[in-house]
Amino acid sequence: MKKFLSTADVARFEELLANSEKIVLTCHVRPDGDAMGSTLGWYHLLKGLGKKPMVVTPDQPPRTLSFMPGFREVAVYTRHDPYCQSLMEEADLIICCDFNKPSRQDQLGPLTRDAKCRKVLIDHHQDPDHFCDVTFSYPDMSSTCEMTFRIMAAMGLYEDMGRDCAECLVTGMVTDTRNFSVNIKSPDIYEVLERLLEKGVDKTRIVKEALMTRTYGSVRLHAYALSEKMEILPRQHASIITLSLEELKQFHYERGDSEGLVNTPLEIRGVVSSFFLREDEDCIKVSARSINDFPVSLVCGDLFGGGGHIMAAGAEFHGTLEEARRMLVEALPAYDKYIKGHPDRIDLW
Ligand code: MN
Repeated sequence: MKKFLSTADVARFEELLANSEKIVLTCHVRPDGDAMGSTLGWYHLLKGLGKKPMVVTPDQPPRTLSFMPGFREVAVYTRHDPYCQSLMEEADLIICCDFNKPSRQDQLGPLTRDAKCRKVLIDHHQDPDHFCDVTFSYPDMSSTCEMTFRIMAAMGLYEDMGRDCAECLVTGMVTDTRNFSVNIKSPDIYEVLERLLEKGVDKTRIVKEALMTRTYGSVRLHAYALSEKMEILPRQHASIITLSLEELKQFHYERGDSEGLVNTPLEIRGVVSSFFLREDEDCIKVSARSINDFPVSLVCGDLFGGGGHIMAAGAEFHGTLEEARRMLVEALPAYDKYIKGHPDRIDLW
């Protein structure tokens, strides 16, 4: 396995852990499998080492992740803020997982940023803010969970990782790579997976729970969006889906129900980029995915002031759904030069 961690950073982190008792693990708003997996993974390991860890999330994690061991022990800032606030204030160490800037934590962000204790960042998003004493930032990593495993192993803690810890880390790897189909830059990830499965993890169950279980409304919403609302721009090799508040209501939309929808158009032969525009109460949520290094992060940045990874980006737009759609349709031809290895237009049939 390729060594990539800085030995000095690992040593500093080790020392911080040795000198800390109360340790808060925290992550980004709308926590996903990787955010919950990395925080809960550390939670189980640190508990086993006799520390007093606590996971504090900015808001409620999704129900689909409730199978994760430790899920019920999590303190949710939007639910019990005085308690979360005291946890943050009394912590000896805060470990920030799977986010690169305090603003990714909404209202919890200022508490993390201003906390007087030492902080460590473990993340795989680009351009992190330097608000921590030790920063592990590796955008080439598949997931924060993969990084977490490597850091634990580098500190010689493999034997201390129990099944609960391993299950959480596999969850994050499975969700961020969609069961090892995207975001993999190095085959080392399979070696990490192997070491984790040796702890007795049931990966089949994790894949079923975290990736293949949805609400009735969600399945119907996806079907409607794909059959009635997907628009293909054949020359741009692009797909655009829009959903209005009214349409969402019709399908009893709950947060998370449109998760993954943006990926489906990429399954169509010839489609290189996919944009999903969803009307929220106060803005239009833009999410974009692509293949073959088509820079949707650039499109989201140029048009809507957003950003993200090259092939997975997003933004918020203040205007109407139709305005956002029109801006995309009009602007996309300017990005044709980034489309690699495809004929002039898609043949859909
Ligand atoms: Mn992640």
